[in-house]
Amino acid sequence: TQYVYRFGGGVSDGGKGDKNLLGGKGANLAEMASIGLPVPPGFTISTEMCARYYEEGESFPQSVRDEAANGIAHIEAITNKKFGDPADPLLVSVRSGARISMPGMMDTVLNLGLNDETVEGLAKTSGDARFAWDSYRRFIQMYSDVVLELDHGAFEEALEIAKEDKGYNLDTELTADDWQALVTQYKAIVVELWDGKPFPQDVHEQLWGAIGAVFGSWQCERAKVYRRLNDIPADWGTAVNVQAMVFGNMGDTSATGVAFTRDPSKGDNAYYGEFLINAQGEDVVAGIRTPQYLTKSAREAAGAKPASMEEALPTVYGELAKVFDLLETHYRDMQDIEFTVQQGKLWMLQTRSGKRTAKAALKIAVDMANEGLITQEEAVARVDPAALDQLLHPTLDPKAPRDVIAKGLPASPGAASGLVVFDADTAEKRAEMGDAVILVRTETSPEDIHGMHAAKGILTARGGMTSHAAVVARGMGRPCVSGVGSLAIDAKAKVFRVSGREVREGDIITIDGATGEVMIGAVPTVQPELAGDFGTLMGWADKVRRLKVRANAETPLDCKTARIFGAEGVGLCRTEHMFFDAARITAVRQMILAEDEKGRRVALDKLLPEQRADFTEIFEIMAGLPVTIRLLDPPLHEFLPHAEEDFAEVASATGIGVEALKRRAAELHEFNPMLGHRGCRLGVTYPEIYEMQARAIFEAACDVAAKSGKAPIPEVMVPLVATRRELELMKAVIDKAAKAVFAERGTTLEYLVGTMIELPRAALKAGEIAEVGEFFSFGTNDLTQTTLGVSRDDAGRFLTTYVDKGIYPKDPFVSLDVEGVGELIELAAERGRKTRSGIKLGICGEHGGDPASIAFCEKTGLDYVSASPYRVPIARLAAAQAAL
Ligand code: PEP
Ligand code: MG
Repeated sequence: TQYVYRFGGGVSDGGKGDKNLLGGKGANLAEMASIGLPVPPGFTISTEMCARYYEEGESFPQSVRDEAANGIAHIEAITNKKFGDPADPLLVSVRSGARISMPGMMDTVLNLGLNDETVEGLAKTSGDARFAWDSYRRFIQMYSDVVLELDHGAFEEALEIAKEDKGYNLDTELTADDWQALVTQYKAIVVELWDGKPFPQDVHEQLWGAIGAVFGSWQCERAKVYRRLNDIPADWGTAVNVQAMVFGNMGDTSATGVAFTRDPSKGDNAYYGEFLINAQGEDVVAGIRTPQYLTKSAREAAGAKPASMEEALPTVYGELAKVFDLLETHYRDMQDIEFTVQQGKLWMLQTRSGKRTAKAALKIAVDMANEGLITQEEAVARVDPAALDQLLHPTLDPKAPRDVIAKGLPASPGAASGLVVFDADTAEKRAEMGDAVILVRTETSPEDIHGMHAAKGILTARGGMTSHAAVVARGMGRPCVSGVGSLAIDAKAKVFRVSGREVREGDIITIDGATGEVMIGAVPTVQPELAGDFGTLMGWADKVRRLKVRANAETPLDCKTARIFGAEGVGLCRTEHMFFDAARITAVRQMILAEDEKGRRVALDKLLPEQRADFTEIFEIMAGLPVTIRLLDPPLHEFLPHAEEDFAEVASATGIGVEALKRRAAELHEFNPMLGHRGCRLGVTYPEIYEMQARAIFEAACDVAAKSGKAPIPEVMVPLVATRRELELMKAVIDKAAKAVFAERGTTLEYLVGTMIELPRAALKAGEIAEVGEFFSFGTNDLTQTTLGVSRDDAGRFLTTYVDKGIYPKDPFVSLDVEGVGELIELAAERGRKTRSGIKLGICGEHGGDPASIAFCEKTGLDYVSASPYRVPIARLAAAQAAL
């Protein structure tokens, strides 16, 4: 097997199609080199070596050492320098690069190849001793941290003390002699912390140490957490890139920066980025110095002083702008770029498809289709349906008063209110307790990732738009305000101070990631605007999708929201939600606790007009669209009164004594309510309940048809059916109610009677059930629960472990277990169609709003998916993507 792939100097052993093998960074470096862009020469050790490295007990076979030696020779030939040469040393960077980027998750070592001898050579060839010693101390610090895993605090402390001794404020004030003295100190720190061993002087030992550390970082804790949060399989592995160093810190004609070919936050078609003069790459990303703007217009818009790159380095900026255009046309997507300018010469260090907010993703996709760079279908395919979630949620009410205490960079859009916490662990703990939290940090590091995920929003005192906090927050869809320089955070005392105000842990603040504002208290929010790019893209999506999209909705508000979001009907109206209403619960309890049919009918008569009013309103809002109404489903057990006053209320409504009611309640108590007296078992034992509901449905339908002239299409659905006979009995009750109502009103209406398929037996016997049922709706919540034998209410406690151990790829209650539950659905669809050709098939479990599950529904040829109102647009887009 070949493990090493070269690039640069007219050679490219790989290209952009080789991401799986070379990782994203390696594949794109090879691609850029092959289209003639200035890329420092180097080589990539493939992801296949990562697996092998672990197989071989974290060591390297001789063959890869030989190949890498050829790789080094390739770099030496092009740069005309020799690795380890005391006169004119070649220095390299060693970086990770997985198939998809994992920002800040993996390790990097720069300036590798420096030792006590080569540092002198570098000083001579660069003519800058200060630069050489600064590079060496950076290398010792980075190598000690990443490869030797020594505590980096000791190094930082030594630097602080050195500055204090000399009365310096800034790192830039240190002289060559100062840095040299510090190198001596750093080496002493290594000996002390590394069990008496000296800092490695052999450049090959340095190289293999760094390569091993990068492969090793694939299994570090923070990388594992990141993979879990982003569904990245553990067996992908990372590649390692070894590349000739170029220096952005060789004086005022040198610089380093990161850029996007379009604005990754708003999506505007304008170059966007940050750079630092006389700095090394990590300085920008780490957010240690606040970077300068790339373009003059961005600088002016922000009212910032320090010159933009366009102003400070106009010639190289011009070259860079040409590269941006070339890359965007070549890749046909917005690119995220890292570059370095070494003494006036531009070098490209990375390009990849840029991460973007949902808003930017939409705008960029629509703009690029309109520009003719991509097709409308490609635009539809480009937007991640799950990311739409960010757009569909409320933003701050512009009219609400705001007590703004600070302003930072608008690093990730959306608004969030919550109580302040100062560390990731507390964020996680409070979030688990159900609190909305805002994580406030001086700057975030990859160790904070779990806290960022748990938080509703992130606020940092340092760092630019491309700092770790900003990149990670955008990826997670968390609002983030970064770089609030005026924020004085005392994390130990759990307090921050700004503009004369003091905010303690637990105080409520609001952040607005769109404006960068930080406010005291919770600011009210408003619904999002759904026109513009969103409307355009959804229109394109609707043109290509086959699956219909309905909503799970039972309140008028939900139905209205669903229609605004484009629902084409109601796929599931859970009538029990109407029974829980505080005003009705006493009548419901009266019905349940009644000793006999007569007693139940008294209570049902009270509920009938209420149910009729519910359905009337829903039919009116849905104006002629199909509405699937499910008859009462939940365990009776759930309605039982517990509190003394609840019993008293039922007693006064019925005239039955509290003691008798309690006895009856005890009789109805269930040990396993989810498998107990619920679903159609209620209708089988107490048919008068379903009779009342059916009557309410048909009366409402007749009323709305008469009033509006638009006849609703009721689809009456029976839950938790396991056998044909159950459905037959319930259909008779429903048909009888319909007949009676139509006779009373002197009219008839079209309606369907169907069933949920949510038990394995129903799926197996779907052929027989379809003899009675006119439609099926897959209730995949219960079907998952009963097929896996895993309680949907208790699964949270152990399912994460199941996912971590690879037993299920994702939580099967979130994303359909296609292999198991999916097979039952396919089988039921096939058997149902055989009996009743063209039988209407839908899905109404939570999975109806999950893109991966929707792809399965498309493949199985279902007619529609039904999702909660806010997920309707996600489902529309996912359905379109599934059809492409
Ligand atoms: C289901 O079981 O998937 C379903 C939609 O019904 P419920 O969630 O109400 O049990
Ligand atoms: Mg169910």
